[in-house]
Amino acid sequence: MSTTEPPLQLLQAPYFKHLSEVVAQLRRSPQLMLYLESASYRHFACTLCGDCCRQPWEIKVSEAYYRRWADVFAQEASGRFKEAMVLRKKPDKYAFADFRRQPGSYACVFLEPDQSCWIHTHHGEAALSEVCRSYPRSHKIVGHRYESRLLMHSCEAVPEQNARYPELLYRLQPVTHFASQQHETASDGFPGRYETWLLLGLLYDLLEQPLPVSVLARWGQAQSVLQEIYHLGLNRLQASHLHLMYEQRMQSLSLTGQPGSPQDQQTALKWLSSYVSAHPGLQSWLRQLRPDQLPPPLSAISAERFNHHLTLYLRNRLLNLPYLDHFAGSLNLWQHCFLITLQLCSLQGLMLYYLRTEAELSDDHCYRAIQFAGRALEQRTAFKEKAWIESLSPLACIEGIRILLSLDYGQAGSPA
Ligand code: SF4
Repeated sequence: MSTTEPPLQLLQAPYFKHLSEVVAQLRRSPQLMLYLESASYRHFACTLCGDCCRQPWEIKVSEAYYRRWADVFAQEASGRFKEAMVLRKKPDKYAFADFRRQPGSYACVFLEPDQSCWIHTHHGEAALSEVCRSYPRSHKIVGHRYESRLLMHSCEAVPEQNARYPELLYRLQPVTHFASQQHETASDGFPGRYETWLLLGLLYDLLEQPLPVSVLARWGQAQSVLQEIYHLGLNRLQASHLHLMYEQRMQSLSLTGQPGSPQDQQTALKWLSSYVSAHPGLQSWLRQLRPDQLPPPLSAISAERFNHHLTLYLRNRLLNLPYLDHFAGSLNLWQHCFLITLQLCSLQGLMLYYLRTEAELSDDHCYRAIQFAGRALEQRTAFKEKAWIESLSPLACIEGIRILLSLDYGQAGSPA
C-alpha cells in the first residue's frame, strides 16, 4: 500500500449525514473516490487453525506463482509435492492452476497433520499463494462507486474480530484508471455512485435507530425504501429523493415488530429450509416447524446478543451491496437485497437452532452461525445457479423480503 494514501477516518453516525458531507466534497472533487474499510480488516491475525485449507472451495494460483514454485515443490525429497498444482481447464493469468487435495478429502496437499502449512513452514509467509496470503481479506474495487476492504465471514476468526472492531473507516482517494472509465448510471441495476453512498448511509441509519425493535424489523424498513426507489425508477433516482426518504423515515420513528401472517411464515419456512440444504440438521428442524409451533420468545439477554450480531453481519454485508459480487453472481439491487434477507433469516434460523438446547444464546453460537453463513451461504455459488433469484423481478424481491421478515424472533418476549 502506498504511503501517500490519505489517512483513514472514522465514519460516524448518523451515517447519512456524514456520507452526505462526503458526497458534497466529492461533487467538488470528481477526481476523488470513496474508500471504505471495516476496522477489523487491519486487526486480523491468522490463528493457523487450518480450517480454510480443508474446504471444498478452489485454492487457485496465478501463472506467475505456478512458474515460480512448481519446480521447487516437485523437488521436495519425499516426492509428495511432485504435482502439487493442477492446471485449470481454462487457465488465465490470474487463475492458472489449483492446489491439489489430499486423497479422499478436501484438505490441501500442503496441509500437515498438525494443521501447519508446509509452504509456510519451509519457505515463509511470503511464499504462500496470493489467495492463501490474502484470505480472509476481501478487497473490492468498483471504480465508479467506491473501493472497500473487509474480512470474509467464512473464516472462524472473523466474526469475533468484527465484533471487537465494529467501526467503519473511510478516506477519499484519487480514482483509479479503471474508475475513470466507468459510467455513473443505473444501467447495471444499481444506483449511481452518489446515490449508492447515500442509500448506504440511509440503510445504516435505519439499522441503528434508537428503538426497541429487532434488527429484522429495522431491515424491514429497507423494503419500503426499495419499494419507493422501484416506483420512482432506478434511472431517475437522485440524491434529493434519498434526502427526502431519509427525512421522512427519521421523522416517523415508530417501528414495531410486524407480526407475520401464518401463511407468510409457512412460505418463509419453506424457502429457508430449501436455502439451508448445506446444513441438514437445520434444514430438517426448519421443516418440522409450523407457524403455530414456533420456538419460544428470546430472553432479553439472548435477544440483545442476537440483534447485536445480526446487525454487525448486515453492516458488513451491506459494504458490498453495490457490487456485482462474484459470489452473488449478476444480481441487481433488488435481488441482492433479497439474497441478503435470505441470509439474515438463515442466520436467525441457525442461532435459534443452536439455542434450542441451551438456556441463553452465547456469542459463540452467534460466531458459529455467522461463519456457517459466510462459508455455505455466501460462497455456495451452486445455490445461485439452481436458484430463482436471478429471475426475480424487483417487485417479487420486495414482496419476498416482506414474506421472509414475517419470521422475526429478535424481540425479547414477543415472537413474530
Ligand atoms: S498452501 Fe498452505 S495456506 Fe494455502 S491452502 Fe494449502 S495448507 Fe492452506
